[in-house]
Formats: sequence, structure tokens, C-alpha cells
Amino acid sequence: MMGSGARLLVTGLASLMLAACTPAPVVSVPVSERAAIEQRLMADITMLASDDFAGRKPGTPGEEKTLAYLETRMAEVGLVSGTNDPGSYWREPVALVGTRPLSGQLTLTQGRKRVVVPASDAVVFTPRRRAIATSGPGTGVPVVFVGFGDGSVLGDRLAGAVAVMLADPGRDTMRRNSLFAQRATAVVTVEPDAATLPAAQSAERVQLASDEVDTLAAYVTDAALGGVIGQGRWARLKADAQAPDFAPLELNLAVSIEATAERREFVSSNLLGVIPGNAPGSGAVLVLAHWDHLGECSPADAADRICNGAVDNASGLAVMLELARRLKAGAPLGRDIYVLATTAEEAGLLGVRAFAKQPPQPLSQIVAAFNFDMLALAPAGSPVGYIGRGQGPLDAVILAELASSGRGDGDAALADSFVQRQDGWVLQQQGVPSVLLSSSYGSRDVLQPFLGTRYHRPSDEAVQIELGGAVDDLLMHERLIRILADPARYQPSSAPQP
Ligand SMILES: [Zn+2]
Repeated sequence: MMGSGARLLVTGLASLMLAACTPAPVVSVPVSERAAIEQRLMADITMLASDDFAGRKPGTPGEEKTLAYLETRMAEVGLVSGTNDPGSYWREPVALVGTRPLSGQLTLTQGRKRVVVPASDAVVFTPRRRAIATSGPGTGVPVVFVGFGDGSVLGDRLAGAVAVMLADPGRDTMRRNSLFAQRATAVVTVEPDAATLPAAQSAERVQLASDEVDTLAAYVTDAALGGVIGQGRWARLKADAQAPDFAPLELNLAVSIEATAERREFVSSNLLGVIPGNAPGSGAVLVLAHWDHLGECSPADAADRICNGAVDNASGLAVMLELARRLKAGAPLGRDIYVLATTAEEAGLLGVRAFAKQPPQPLSQIVAAFNFDMLALAPAGSPVGYIGRGQGPLDAVILAELASSGRGDGDAALADSFVQRQDGWVLQQQGVPSVLLSSSYGSRDVLQPFLGTRYHRPSDEAVQIELGGAVDDLLMHERLIRILADPARYQPSSAPQP
């Protein structure tokens, strides 16, 4: 599960906790069979969450171990390649780039006044190893003040220029992107004060290589810029920028920007298998779980640094593999069942985005997608959290299953708060009906203790997991997928549209 800036769940939970009234476990298979399922889940989770796999971080030796293990297991459960590429049986390469800011400096010159803006008043970012921009009078590179606009009135004339814009919270990212799209060499954003400067973060940021935009972005405080331009003139420029007919103008100012970053280009992989259906052309069901986790994630001096990610997300992988095994071993299915292990979920749902850009079949053919992320928290018989409820045509089938299985319907607000933090969100955005159904998100008293003590920490280890709810979730998905993979029982066109 991807992290969240918001702390929605970490506070204010003590109120309103009702005494748990646990319904009897749903017995749809013999107890001995449940035990055998648990055993297989435990074997996969224990292996994937062992220190040998080093926290399964993309671009590290832990990745190769993880992929090799999953490939063996995908073959064992009876999948065949889903890649459509004879040269790459399971793997779909995902080109990534990681960048980490190292240094940055902004220098402003007007006439004889030259100021190297101190780090307390300026921050500079680039994804390049080294980026330099020199501009101003005599350089042939104009410095253009665009006020609160996005420079679009200038069209091509902004190409090569350094743009200076006034911050306007909520619109700034969009405006900077627009200025870079017009090929501005650099964009300087003027922030009200030091408190609104972006943090000079040292953490690595990972993106899809195909999404990367080559940028050089500086942020400077209003006072620092005004000090060089002259406070009176700067005040007039800002007042002019408020006018509806304001037109961008060239400043008599030299701006020089230098920045360096650490840059790591590497190729990770999604893994894709399929259980071919016997009704070709009738569409597909997709199940997915992210294989990546955080690698080492505690301070260098900690006794245990490896974030093993047993719950997040060895548990999802284990459930997905056992589900695939049972689907393959049971009665033949009409629609194809794709089984996808995604990379770089923790870095911002990147692997699933790569998948959505180059799917094995058009995305419109996927009638349903089920994501598995952070299972193995709830005991058997717990209510089901339904992430993605009310957003697509699957509601009717899923709600009928919940009603007939006797499993309670979980806390809807809790489930809703995770919609955008999981891989299914990317597919949902592309029109694929995508849900995440799990007892882990059914109630705060199940989820909160995990988030508060083990989530994204070295203590998310296999010894701590509870598999009763995960087995319930697995069996529920098996029933649902048997319905949704049967063209005679489910046709998406006949389902209610959102
Ligand atoms: Zn996570």
C-alpha cells in the first residue's frame, strides 16, 4: 500500500469503537481445506518476507530474488505467459529513473548588484546529474516575468527563456508544467516567504522513465527577489500582475541557476501470467498484487533495517497465487484470467501505470480487476472492506456475494480513504472496473493497530500475521471470479453503469 501524506487514520480513532460482535466464520470449504490453504499462504509469505529478499526493493538484488521466486510459483500454479512476447516469458520491463537532489544554487544579478541567494531563501531542483542556466541581459536568454499566468499567451516566444512566476497555491504545478511544455529553460517560482519554500528534500524520487520531464525549477522568497530588483519596482511589478490585461514582460535581471542530482536509471519488471479461458474474445478478468516493498527503511544504526513487508505485500502475492492455483485446478473458465505482479507500487503506483500503457489486451476487454494489497490482518469471519464501491458496474455482483456469504459489510468511510492509494486506482482511472475487497479494510480495530505499529516498518514480519480473514477473502474472490469469468453469467454491458 502506498503511503499517504494525510494522517487520516493515525489520529482520532479512540472514539466510536463499538464492541466487536464477531459473526461465525463463513464455512464454504471443509476446515481441513482451509488449513491447507493457510499453510500454502504461510509458506509464500515466509519466503517472500525473509531477510534473504532484503525488503524487495526495485533495482536491488532483492528484486531478482523476488522475481525468480514468483516466476517459479507462477509456473507451479499452472499459469502460462501473459506477455505476448516469446522473448520474455513472464517479465514486462518497466524503465524507471530515481533522482535525489544533491546541490542547488540561485544567483541574481541586476546592474552591479550580484546576490548568491542563501539556502534559507532559495531551493533548486533538477532531475539531471548537472543542470545550468544562465540568462539575462547580454546572454541571449531573456528572463520573462509571467505574473500569475502560465505563459501561454507567449506561445513559442518562451522557448529557451527563464520564466519567473508568482506563486498561486493550487495552480502552481499546472502552470510550471505549462511553462516547461513551452520549452522554458528554467522556471523560478516566487514564494511569499521561507515557510512556503518546498523542503530541500534528500529522499530519492522514482518515476517511470517515460513520464520524466527534463526540468530545472528554482523557488525563491519574495523578499530575496525584491531585494535585488528593488522593493519599489518589485511592488509595482506585482501590482501590475494583478491586472486582467497583464502581459508578460522581460526583466532587466540576470538569473543563474546551477543544480546537481544523483540519478539512477534502471529497469524493473512486472510479471504477467494468464489462465487462458475457453471462450476467446469474451474478455478477461485481472487479478493483481504489488511485489515491491521498501528495502531497508529504518535508520542506519537500527538493529533491524529490513522492511520485510509480510503484510505489505507478501500477503497479497500469496493470496493471488493460491487463488490462481484454485481457479486453474477447478472447472474451466470462459474468460481469460490475467495474473499480474506489479513493481514500484510503493513509489507511486508506477508498475501498474506501465501495465496500463501497454496491456496484453485492450483495457476495455478487462471486465473486472481485483487488487490484493495488505491482507493477513483480520481473523476469520470479519467484515469486508470494499474499496472501489459505487464506482463501477461490479457493485451488484459484489454486494450480492457479500449478502449471500453472511460476511458483514465493513466500514465504508475507512475503505473509501484508501481508494487512491492502491494499484487499482490507476486502472479505475482508465475505465477498468477495479476493486479491492479485504477484511483488512473492514474495520478500524483491525487496521489501526497494524498502521500504528508495523506498517512500513521492519516489524512487518511473517511471524505476526493472521490468515483467517485472508482465507475468507480468497474464497470470496474465487466465487466472484467464477461468476465474472463466465460470459453466460456476467455481461458488463448489461450491468448498471455508474
Ligand atoms: Zn506499502
